[in-house]
Amino acid sequence: MQTPLTAGQKALLTAELEQRERQLRAQLAAHLHGQSRVDRAAEVLHQDGDDAPQRRPEMAVSAALTDREQTELNAVVQALDRMRAGRYGMCRSCGTDIAFDRLKVQPWASQCVPCAASA
Ligand SMILES: [Zn+2]
Repeated sequence: MQTPLTAGQKALLTAELEQRERQLRAQLAAHLHGQSRVDRAAEVLHQDGDDAPQRRPEMAVSAALTDREQTELNAVVQALDRMRAGRYGMCRSCGTDIAFDRLKVQPWASQCVPCAASA
């Protein structure tokens, strides 16, 4: 029997999920535009004083996403939704608390180890 996550553990995992979400979105944007959003942000900064409208990366990216990144991003977004809803860390198959050791490795995991292994 696992113990539920503490508030501190949830805060840590939330930070990791949010960081992963930013990373994935940046990677996906890079695939679309051939450069990272970080580069683009730097470019915008260098346009300081320029009164041309700021160009924002087009975020309608679905067609260009790689399957792997899209799948992982979906899992990360869903995990953050569960966190906000107070349902994070429970196995979606059997309802048991997912071990913190597993969530540290894969914060977007939605199943406990036995359920994931039998899926
Ligand atoms: Zn389970």
